[in-house]
Amino acid sequence: MDIHVVDHPLVAHKLTTLRDASTDSPTFRRLTDELVTLLTYEATRDVRVEAVQVTTPVAIAEGVRLAPPKPLIVPILRAGLGMLEGMQHLLPTAEVGFLGMIRDEETLEPATYAERLPDDLTGRQAYVLDPMLATGGTLSAAIEFLVTRGCSAITAVCLLAAPEGIARVEADLADIGVPVSLVVAAVDEKLNEVGYIVPGLGDAGDRLYGVV
Ligand code: URA
Repeated sequence: MDIHVVDHPLVAHKLTTLRDASTDSPTFRRLTDELVTLLTYEATRDVRVEAVQVTTPVAIAEGVRLAPPKPLIVPILRAGLGMLEGMQHLLPTAEVGFLGMIRDEETLEPATYAERLPDDLTGRQAYVLDPMLATGGTLSAAIEFLVTRGCSAITAVCLLAAPEGIARVEADLADIGVPVSLVVAAVDEKLNEVGYIVPGLGDAGDRLYGVV
């Protein structure tokens, strides 16, 4: 897996406020949106484009546009939804599919509870949004699911990752057969005994939407 930790002072600045337990939900959502837009700039470095010509007021110019099929953004519900708009700012024409995955708090293993995706994803470049790469089980399962449906390249966009989660995703996807990348704002120290990233930012879903 190609891992890109986005080393930029604005990313670090916004992430620091996001981590702060005293940051309220509206500010947390706004900062998530801004951070994801910054991460999207890096995550789309390999987005497929095709050559086009346009006529400027002066002459013909050679340029590019996004190549079909459209990129697919897949937020993992619920917390990934908080990242969707941040990516759409830069990829407004991308299609959006949804995967609902929840972590069993005892086994820490993922289970799918909702799915809204085109049946045939052949050749699609997919951007999977999940703020916290913790144990890695959810992300691995989501990527395996998308590749089974035909996706030809996957980029996971996360706010924070734990080294244990990265190791698991790398092991799970060692033979996946398509390029998989991770773009993340920071890799933290470790997971704690209940699967939270340390120091992390707490439960991303709760901080975005309140506790349910
Ligand atoms: N999910 C979260 O929201 N936070 C963590 O620290 C780990 C998983």
